[in-house]
Amino acid sequence: MELPFAESYKTKMVETIRKSTREEREEWIRKAKYNLFNLKSEQVFIDLLTDSGTGAMSDKQWSEMMLGDESYAGASSYYKLRDAIREITGFPYFLPTHQGRGAENVLFSAMIKEGNVVPGNAHFDTTKGHIEYRKARAIDCTIDEAFDIEVDYPFKGNIDLNKLRSVLEQYPVEMIPVVIVTITCNSSGGQPVSLENIREVKKLASEYGIPVFFDSARFAENAYFIKIREEGYRDKSIREIVREMFSYADGMTMSSKKDAIVNMGGFVAMNSHILFEQASMYNILFEGYISYGGMSGRDMNALSQGLYEGTEYPYLESRINQVAYLGQNLKDHGIPVQQPFGGHAIFIEASKFLPHIPKEEFIAQTLAVELYLESGVRGVEIGTLLADRDPDTRKNRYPDLEFLRLTIPRRVYSKNHMDYIIAALVNVYNRRNEVKKGLRIIREAAILRHFTVELDRL
Ligand SMILES: *Cc1c(COP(=O)(O)O)cnc(C)c1O
Repeated sequence: MELPFAESYKTKMVETIRKSTREEREEWIRKAKYNLFNLKSEQVFIDLLTDSGTGAMSDKQWSEMMLGDESYAGASSYYKLRDAIREITGFPYFLPTHQGRGAENVLFSAMIKEGNVVPGNAHFDTTKGHIEYRKARAIDCTIDEAFDIEVDYPFKGNIDLNKLRSVLEQYPVEMIPVVIVTITCNSSGGQPVSLENIREVKKLASEYGIPVFFDSARFAENAYFIKIREEGYRDKSIREIVREMFSYADGMTMSSKKDAIVNMGGFVAMNSHILFEQASMYNILFEGYISYGGMSGRDMNALSQGLYEGTEYPYLESRINQVAYLGQNLKDHGIPVQQPFGGHAIFIEASKFLPHIPKEEFIAQTLAVELYLESGVRGVEIGTLLADRDPDTRKNRYPDLEFLRLTIPRRVYSKNHMDYIIAALVNVYNRRNEVKKGLRIIREAAILRHFTVELDRL
């Protein structure tokens, strides 16, 4: 018998979670105005809202917390983090920030000006937000394969080199401060970018003298996919692949709440000393002094340790396989899921799950509510609510794909939890024709409406 994958860790501390009744959930979700962000966490049994900052730290990370140096300047925790970043990524300069968007704010303040264009692969929403806030524009150059959930392409996060070239030709180089490659590409479903593509993007950008930065929240998961799926990388270690990936970048932003398995933190790292000095000014202005930037010493210690643990093969193997186990079982039951499975989440195509619900009735949100009512599992809508209104016409923007995302926290849930989620979704799928109507908006904010929107049943 072939030995199955098993977690490369065991449990030392536990946290109680509680099941509820359907009657309780009916009342809670009504009071939450059918917005799962408004639920209290104790009203949720299995929480798949996000993998951001929701991971379980290890015993080694907790011991590092006790060793944190809380000195304002020059703390040993700062040097520990500097050494870890140098060893893992190869970048000589870095600035700590409170989380990923802090890193974006610091870097973009130094790099992006009004009227600029920033090409990339489906920029993450905070990245896009920080670009647009500066009256610049993010241009999506993701390959077309990413938008067809049935195409089984191994690197759906890749940048289409023709699309990128046409952007680089269309605009004067002074207007293009940077190309941003998001690894893995969150917005297209946690899909990886191949090393071949990374290399080609760097080569193309270099022809125009434009730097390449990685939005690196899930860089280790990306490296795992390269090892498994890309020709020539089987025998390379995750750390070797990571170093090769970053060797084609001029710098990176990092949300440490993802692959560095801490609850809070981030950083920006780069090769250029000039850029480091420019960005330092904004770090002091927005985040904190350059040797802590919004993080406690103990947080920097846990982050340093997390960078090492997050790039270990056995850990990544169990993480990616857990996500794939969920995806494969859903697929086997006929549930439409994005393929191949991404690194951190399974994406269900809600408009194929509930084809009789019109898009005006928020299909993925309707499915998220049904799953919660069935089981107490909280997923998140990545569809029309998130896509928001067109800023000019104020009409709803309807994205190509209407997703319910099931995001798996790191080292938190067991295979039994996955089986529970699978059974819950199969039950909803079997009675999908009984879901007759969707939802309507009763109140919404002017921007980022999905966090606070209030809905009602139709
Ligand atoms: C989470 C994330 C960010 C933003 O990071 P925060 O820590 O949430 O501020 C940026 N880019 C990507 C790809 C992310 O996944």
